[in-house]
Amino acid sequence: MNLVFLGLPGAGKGTQAQILAKKYNIPHISTGDIFRNAIKNETPLGVKAKEYIDSGELVPDEVTNGIVKERLQKEDCNQGFILDGYPRTLDQAEALDENMNQLDRKLDLVIYTKVKESELIKRLTGRRICEDCGATYHVEFDPPEVEAICDKCGGNLIQRDDDKEETVEKRINVNKDKTDQLINYYNKKDILIEIDAEKEIDAVSNEIVDVIEEKVK
Ligand code: ADP
Ligand code: AMP
Repeated sequence: MNLVFLGLPGAGKGTQAQILAKKYNIPHISTGDIFRNAIKNETPLGVKAKEYIDSGELVPDEVTNGIVKERLQKEDCNQGFILDGYPRTLDQAEALDENMNQLDRKLDLVIYTKVKESELIKRLTGRRICEDCGATYHVEFDPPEVEAICDKCGGNLIQRDDDKEETVEKRINVNKDKTDQLINYYNKKDILIEIDAEKEIDAVSNEIVDVIEEKVK
């Protein structure tokens, strides 16, 4: 099962992708996570990506496309994958199609998580992530059992630099038109489903699972 999560920053893509990856036992591939790990490890990719991410811009398509192409060739993707935060531009969507053709596979579903802008800002500014395993929390909507400590691995929870208020609005604006273009692109291919992602986390995942069971399984 080959899935894509599409949506503005803060719409809950990572949260839902994490839940589905566990349920269906397929890898959750987040380009944002790949870049953050590269930055943490100070790799050449990390050095390249950091300036874009810190300023709320997108990393150039040729860099991002290359990384995803390589990742999708790994053996753990043979039973399927969940892409989160990729594609984010039409160029990336076309590169992904080409990539799928070469692998003789196809995308089954593109899940568009729709959330209004005022809610996105609340979600992004309250988001905390584990500095060790990357798990996502929210200070109000999805708090850990012990304040500032990851339930899963005991790591410290931190705020992403690009979740500070000054970068959040910029990121939403950078992604708006591009997300609309992708909605059109995948609607034409008849693989897009729109989910009202303003409901609680469990309600959203139940709805997504229902659609997957109906359309893909
Ligand atoms: P994205 O990957 O789309 O940027 P995340 O999954 O990281 O978004 O979610 C953004 C923030 O909103 C996180 O702090 C997460 O805990 C919280 N969140 C995710 N889904 C919901 C929801 N349905 N209701 C309330 N908060 C949510
Ligand atoms: P995310 O974790 O999805 O919110 O992504 C964090 C940041 O990583 C984004 O603001 C971009 O700077 C960069 N990024 C993640 N995915 C992509 C992508 N598909 N294309 C370009 N840049 C990306």
